[in-house]
Amino acid sequence: MKKPNTKLHDVIGILCGVFLVAVLIWSIIAGNRTTTAGAADIPDDAVTMQGTAPGRNGPIVVEVTATEDTIYQIKVLEEEETEGIGSVAVDELPGMIYEAQSLQVDSIAGATVTSDAVKAAVVNALENAGFDPNVFMREVEAAAPVEKTDVELECDVVVVGAGGAGLTASVLATQEGQNVILLEKMPFVGGNSLRAEGGMNAADTKVEAELGITDSTVDNFVEDTLRLGHNLANPDLVRTLAENSAEAVDWLYSIDAPLPEVVATGGTSHKYLHKPEGGLPVGEYLVEKLKAQTEKLGVDVRVNTKATEILMENGQAVGVKAEDAEHNYTIHAKSVVLTTGGFGANFDLMASYDESLRNAVTTNHSGATGDGIAMAQAVGADTVDMEQIQLHPTVIQSDGTLVSESVRSHGAIIVNTEGKRFVNDLAGRDVVSQAELKQPDGYCFIIFDQHLQDEVALTQKFIDRGFTITGNTYEELAENMGLTGEAVQNFVNTMNTWNESVAKGVDEEFGRDNGMDADLSTAPYYAIKIAPGIHHTMGGIKINTNAEVIDTSGNVIPGLFAAGETTGGIHGGNRVGGNAVCDFIVFGRIAGKSASEFADSVALDNAA
Ligand code: ADP
Repeated sequence: MKKPNTKLHDVIGILCGVFLVAVLIWSIIAGNRTTTAGAADIPDDAVTMQGTAPGRNGPIVVEVTATEDTIYQIKVLEEEETEGIGSVAVDELPGMIYEAQSLQVDSIAGATVTSDAVKAAVVNALENAGFDPNVFMREVEAAAPVEKTDVELECDVVVVGAGGAGLTASVLATQEGQNVILLEKMPFVGGNSLRAEGGMNAADTKVEAELGITDSTVDNFVEDTLRLGHNLANPDLVRTLAENSAEAVDWLYSIDAPLPEVVATGGTSHKYLHKPEGGLPVGEYLVEKLKAQTEKLGVDVRVNTKATEILMENGQAVGVKAEDAEHNYTIHAKSVVLTTGGFGANFDLMASYDESLRNAVTTNHSGATGDGIAMAQAVGADTVDMEQIQLHPTVIQSDGTLVSESVRSHGAIIVNTEGKRFVNDLAGRDVVSQAELKQPDGYCFIIFDQHLQDEVALTQKFIDRGFTITGNTYEELAENMGLTGEAVQNFVNTMNTWNESVAKGVDEEFGRDNGMDADLSTAPYYAIKIAPGIHHTMGGIKINTNAEVIDTSGNVIPGLFAAGETTGGIHGGNRVGGNAVCDFIVFGRIAGKSASEFADSVALDNAA
């Protein structure tokens, strides 16, 4: 028998390997991937046509091969959607549309903007091919019900909810030697944390020392957080937050997540807001870094898996029940960490505290339904400050997208439809939101210039998604904003007065004293229409400074820990911008550590 030419095989193998790596590197450099769905048997009369629609971060371009009643192939040629969220929809939707031969397929939960954009791009391609897209609006058959299998799992620590707090707690507990299962009910990790744009507040950090910032002390941080939170927060929790913030930043550096830039945030007296380099949105940045750590450390992360109940034995948490599409899980654990986020997408629950919020726009992801609070209450946990629901003053009403404080921290201002400023634009979120609610027409504008746009990378997406109004002069911008009559001149005056205030370093009108490093004099100028929207639920599960859950009699529930937005007591009546990220990193670490120590003590008891 002829021996295969092993040398030739090796060379071909190496060349193929090099080619694949080159393709991979190219696709990473190019910043998008090509997703293809469809069959090979394409008839001769099928037409191939491109279509496009705006996605969350930029245009989505597809190529569709179809006849008037059959789709044979869908390729996504271009996209810039957020890795881990929109990218899931980009990967899944073409196949789903092809399989169902319908555009009526469900959107990917939590990635509706991208899902809708993929569908709209396919519609556009069909139209460009001269086909009627309505033919593909066929009803989609419901999937047959699945008989679920019961599965028992075991681990040291089970963490429920893979947002910032859950990822942090999982990484920490794994670093401490625990075997961790992390459950996430959505198709991807990140939760609301992914949407955090500004930065992480921290006091007395090495980064600040290097930048020569000496007045950002733990005491100042505590005072600001309590004052801006209307003195409602639990001072012990706030002090724990502040005291552990510098170490938390060091820890982020140790897991390759540096935050080297420091600016002021809304209402605070000093600069605490630590940001990633180049103005990257902090949430996406940290979630990606934390997720990479879970992968590196081998955390068992299960998406599409929803926890439904905490398992208790003799008053102690010993695991959870959970489910995915095919299984009912009983997960036995030595300790349980709840990091399920807030309830800013649970309108019934919010309306039970404030009926006016029932139809409000929310910046929250659809999974923010307060599951952890309900699960904890079912085992006797107490809650605090549930009625404290924060409005954010700069929300784009059409889809709940947030314009983070960092845009104002870099110099943007807010004007009303009369072309006038009306508040210290960087006062607390509650103060600015309440002032906006008193303005005519129910909306306002946030204004910035090209200099700021160049400095703050995240503003690009507002331009790409068509949220910005532009003008080459203040007058032109005002007209494009829809201002008329006196309002146009008011706006021009407002801008000139503001630029003078920046030059003087004093805002005589409204007493703003930060985010005034640069004026707004570089054309073109930008405006985004904004109004207040539901942002953060500040109340939740009662915890102590060890992130242990407290029951309604004031006692610790052994084995049960909680961190992040699912807890209450840290923000009081108003959360400071940058404190949610600080909360999920600091208390995520504390919960991971406490749960780890508890798991060790259970292991010792079991061994004895
Ligand atoms: P935090 O900032 O406190 O980490 P996030 O909103 O970022 O809060 O993350 C909370 C995560 O918990 C979200 O990804 C959410 O989908 C997830 N989650 C909520 N309820 C459940 C549940 N019942 N089971 C599993 N994951 C859940």
